[in-house]
Amino acid sequence: MNNELDIHIGVNPARCYQCGKCSAGCPLADDMDFTSNVVMRMLQSEDESLDKELLQSQAIWLCASCEMCISRCPMEIDIPKIMDYLRQQSIAKGLQNKSANKNIISFHHSFLDMIRFTGRSYEIGMIADYKLRSRKLLQDLTLAPKMFLKGKLPLFPEMVKDRKNIKRIFKHIDT
Ligand code: SF4
Ligand code: SF4
Repeated sequence: MNNELDIHIGVNPARCYQCGKCSAGCPLADDMDFTSNVVMRMLQSEDESLDKELLQSQAIWLCASCEMCISRCPMEIDIPKIMDYLRQQSIAKGLQNKSANKNIISFHHSFLDMIRFTGRSYEIGMIADYKLRSRKLLQDLTLAPKMFLKGKLPLFPEMVKDRKNIKRIFKHIDT
């Protein structure tokens, strides 16, 4: 998948020389099945079975896009962008590991749906969508009234004016 990444997102994992600085600084490395430098090595191999393992991995969903890795990488390889591409490919190919990453994947879809329909952050809509998807209907329910009273949860969404552009971006992603 090395060449594919270079063509589609302009990031080339072949530049990685396995110094390990990215994984050493990653706050989630201990919980990942493949740390970021291992992900780079798997991508470099251009081995289809390793590509499939990556798309089924937990690591791509655990990555929080915190950008610690890219700030430490001597080659400035944009690992969060790679992880994002792998997540999208994992969904597109139906390879996402739903049992291990169910809640993260539900949140991912809820967040994208919120942006797709409003172009902005709309917490109440996103929380409702997430609860339906994850079936965690009662979790954290007591927090909602407090946040609402503090004005942290606006009742109605604020829509971006240029919805056409949002549609265009999602059309590009979906195809
Ligand atoms: S962006 Fe992802 S891989 Fe990089 S340090 Fe943060 S959690 Fe780890
Ligand atoms: S820090 Fe950069 S060069 Fe070093 S292992 Fe990670 S991706 Fe490769």
